[in-house]
Amino acid sequence: MSKPTTPAESAQLKDIVAHAKEYGFVFQSSEIYDGLAAVYDYGPNGVELKNNLKRLWWEAMTQLHGNVVGIDAAIFMEPRTWEASGHVAGFNDPLIDNLDSKKRYRADVLVEEKAAEYEKAGDPARGAALTAELGRLLTENDLAGVKQLIIDEKITCPISGTAKWTDVRQFNLMFSTQGSAVDSDAPPVYLRPETAQGIFVNFLNVQKSARMKIPFGIAQIGKAFRNEIVARQFIFRMREFEQMEMQFFVRPGTEGEWYDTWKAARRRFHEALGLPAEKLRFHDHDKLAHYAKAAVDIEFEFPFGFKEIEGIHSRSDFDLTQHQNLSRKKQQYFDNDLDPATGKPYGNYVPYVVETSVGADRLFLATICQAFQEETITEGEGEAQTTKQRTFLKLHPAVAPIKAAIFPLVRKDGMPEKAQEIFDSLRFDFRLVIEDKDAIGKRYTRQDLIGTPFCIVVDGQTLEDDTVTVRDRDTREQTRMPISALRGYIGEAVSFRRVFEKL
Ligand code: ATP
Repeated sequence: MSKPTTPAESAQLKDIVAHAKEYGFVFQSSEIYDGLAAVYDYGPNGVELKNNLKRLWWEAMTQLHGNVVGIDAAIFMEPRTWEASGHVAGFNDPLIDNLDSKKRYRADVLVEEKAAEYEKAGDPARGAALTAELGRLLTENDLAGVKQLIIDEKITCPISGTAKWTDVRQFNLMFSTQGSAVDSDAPPVYLRPETAQGIFVNFLNVQKSARMKIPFGIAQIGKAFRNEIVARQFIFRMREFEQMEMQFFVRPGTEGEWYDTWKAARRRFHEALGLPAEKLRFHDHDKLAHYAKAAVDIEFEFPFGFKEIEGIHSRSDFDLTQHQNLSRKKQQYFDNDLDPATGKPYGNYVPYVVETSVGADRLFLATICQAFQEETITEGEGEAQTTKQRTFLKLHPAVAPIKAAIFPLVRKDGMPEKAQEIFDSLRFDFRLVIEDKDAIGKRYTRQDLIGTPFCIVVDGQTLEDDTVTVRDRDTREQTRMPISALRGYIGEAVSFRRVFEKL
């Protein structure tokens, strides 16, 4: 939960939410039944955009690195997995209710927001002291202390404005379901709260079958589920979401270097995709998770403030050792590289892990927030001059749902047939649409709203010399070119290579 957005901030998020719905990007789940809180569906344009983001991440991990391979593990896992990982005992959020508004909050977030207020008001020392005190209380699991802190800091409910709070209690975020149809005493099966454990339990399977040598990584994209206490801000905090995680296994002692390497690499990825450097920042964790040696978030400046889109964690050998202990199966690697200090092979060890974990939905939200543009256009000159508003999605062409729209200028004289011919000649390469309804201006507008980078117009001249005009979404400029040049022109603009070259 985060601070209630101010009217100006929420107006912008509101516009994006409305846009996402109207143009087929994101719908509330089961909307006809008034929706299910914090669960969303992706529409025809949304699924294309999200798939492009996921494919870009996947290739950036597996295709660009000879030492990173992928897996696709099941959502259900043997329940002991979650005991070993610490999630059964420790994947909790401290919650607190306000007795007047009946609203529920994360107690830690209430305190963190107070600390942020001090910082904003020019008293960072007080903010830092408060955060440190919160960290201490949470580490000691002193929930009464957290409540006292909320009272001492005079933190009130943003809805009721009162400080009538319940006690703070721990709430486990894992969803569970009946594991066995025959044995009602069987332990529950959890819906995985992160994809990482599917990677850890397959560490040796992958290492052996793919003959990987340390350092190497395993990447995975998949659904994760968390029963978030306060779920809002659209697809920022969902109960069912998708993670793109890569666990990088390294020799103990080298984790610091790899942590720095991946931290920088992951930030470059977001910048290469078009998130501006000034809207990205690193935020070191004040309170480290039970497994972490070091942890940093990459935050993006959403309309509701800087928030995490990705976490980079140095997880030590925590996970593999835990699984080794509980399963009684060795999770070791034999490193036959020579240790220069001894001249002998490094030998057997449990590898250390550096994790990069980004939410596909949060990346989607950041991408669409950044792409959402409104501009005033002036047309004509002198007396005839008019101005109008234009809304468009300035998506990186590599992730745009549709790469080009083909417009026959009129629905006769062989133009529709020519448009179809162009469509057929390019459809193996790009996702395209043909649009023949309404005036050209309206058709441009429709494509702008979903971020299509190019609009190709088939006109009278096309029938004579096989040239078309290509209109650029961002500059609105039109260029005439031969039909035979389209594949190269569009292909260059939408190619993943343009993103990869910046990594
Ligand atoms: P937060 O502090 O915002 O709850 P977290 O630190 O618990 O996030 P991690 O466990 O590090 O998140 O998960 C890695 C990534 O998964 C996050 O950076 C985020 O992009 C994504 N993620 C986590 N929880 C959610 C959620 N409820 N909805 C959407 N994405 C999520």
